[in-house]
Amino acid sequence: MASQTGSIVQHSLDALMEDTSFLPTLKDSTREKAFTSLASILSTPNHILKSFLRIALENGEVVRIPAFRVQHNNTLGPYKGGIRFHESVGEEDVMNLAALMTLKNALHEVPFGGGKGGISINPRDYTIKELHLISQKYVHYFSDILGPDKDIPAPDMGTGDREMDWMMAEYKSIRPGQPYRGSFTGKSVVNGGSLGRREATGKGVYFTFRYMLYDFVKEQKNLLSKSENIFAKTALSSADRSLKVAVQGFGNVGSVAALESYNCTKLQNKIVAVSDRNVTLYNSDGLDIPSLIGFTSMNDGDLPTTEEQLSEFDLKAKILNRDEVLYQDVDVLILAALEDQVHKENVDKVKAQIIVEGANAPVTGDADRILSDKGVIIVPDILANAGGVIVSYFEWLQGRETQFYSEEEVFKLLFDKMKSTMDTILPQFFGDPFPLRQNCYIHAVMKLSTILYRQGKLY
Ligand code: NAD
Repeated sequence: MASQTGSIVQHSLDALMEDTSFLPTLKDSTREKAFTSLASILSTPNHILKSFLRIALENGEVVRIPAFRVQHNNTLGPYKGGIRFHESVGEEDVMNLAALMTLKNALHEVPFGGGKGGISINPRDYTIKELHLISQKYVHYFSDILGPDKDIPAPDMGTGDREMDWMMAEYKSIRPGQPYRGSFTGKSVVNGGSLGRREATGKGVYFTFRYMLYDFVKEQKNLLSKSENIFAKTALSSADRSLKVAVQGFGNVGSVAALESYNCTKLQNKIVAVSDRNVTLYNSDGLDIPSLIGFTSMNDGDLPTTEEQLSEFDLKAKILNRDEVLYQDVDVLILAALEDQVHKENVDKVKAQIIVEGANAPVTGDADRILSDKGVIIVPDILANAGGVIVSYFEWLQGRETQFYSEEEVFKLLFDKMKSTMDTILPQFFGDPFPLRQNCYIHAVMKLSTILYRQGKLY
């Protein structure tokens, strides 16, 4: 488990160990032993699988590509987590992401464990035929450990419904006659995917922010205004006024979160900056998000990078360097690209008072502490970006029942689930001195610990 996740889990365990009302039957040295046992269960994955996929490229060259699947913990159900195609994929990162999935599912009461997979490639360097082969080989190499009741992958960065369709088809041909619909989620709708899955993460990311500021803070205004809590002050100062928003990453998560923000009628948002792997676009009067989405859909997912491209689509924006999105004078920064984007070296340049983690671990531990000490609210990954895995769960259920829900039903179920988590976490967050991430971790660790204890795994 990487240092930030590991140290927050340890802090959560330390707090729970001291709180004798939690698991009260565990006393003295038995209690100590149980918490030592918990720390080792949560800090180590159950399985790490690594392989080198042997692929014959279209030009005749044969390459061996590193591929991983980490199964962190299955206390709550089958392992669940995305498969990432990105050149930075390595064992350590996949392990950390798998641990985050365990905590995310526990926090939102999704009956899955945590896993993650990845292949170390830049998908843009491969033809469609080669990507198809790579996807098939991944399933082939790991087929023994995958399955609807064992380990259920989904898309992540660099993968989408196309890859999940290919992978499920390969799984089905390897295991003829066995249930296969629930083996992968995030599939295309015609192939058994759920309506709303593509938008689920981005919609959920925006929902957490909107629910906190509009529904919760407005409702609790009187109570919060009497509070000395530093985060309550930040939230109150951001409620009831127009907010400037910046979004880093304009893929599946970032573009949907930006569109939700653009269309929101409950808060007055102006999206002044968005970015992707090439560029930041800025407009102090607000960017035209639907037109930018229109542009990316015709340009391999990329935002415009030249004045000609902007004027072709009648778009008005300043073209800035890629990382400038992080440092704009905004109220809210939605991080929806990669890990480690806000770190010790650049944290002082970040001006936003609210940061929402659409990506996994985009703020490092050091930066998190510096921002939290200043009262910046960070809506953490395990709370904000769970929409994808929640709707994956609905897709898995629909695959079992072979009954499908309407898009409206899916979004209602999604928002109900996220609302229920927010209603559990927010009163605690605004009432005690811990940052929101710590509150979420404590809740997730409590859930996992209680079940492990009930199952007799701690002694
Ligand atoms: P994606 O591949 O669809 O989009 C990634 C976006 O980030 C693209 O716009 C890309 O150009 C941009 N990008 C890449 N490098 C960048 C950089 N250095 N600076 C700025 N932008 C950069 O991926 P996605 O599905 O939107 O996932 C984004 C993040 O959200 C990932 O960290 C992923 O793990 C996380 N996440 C995704 C889901 C999901 O359901 N897709 C669920 C949970 C978490």
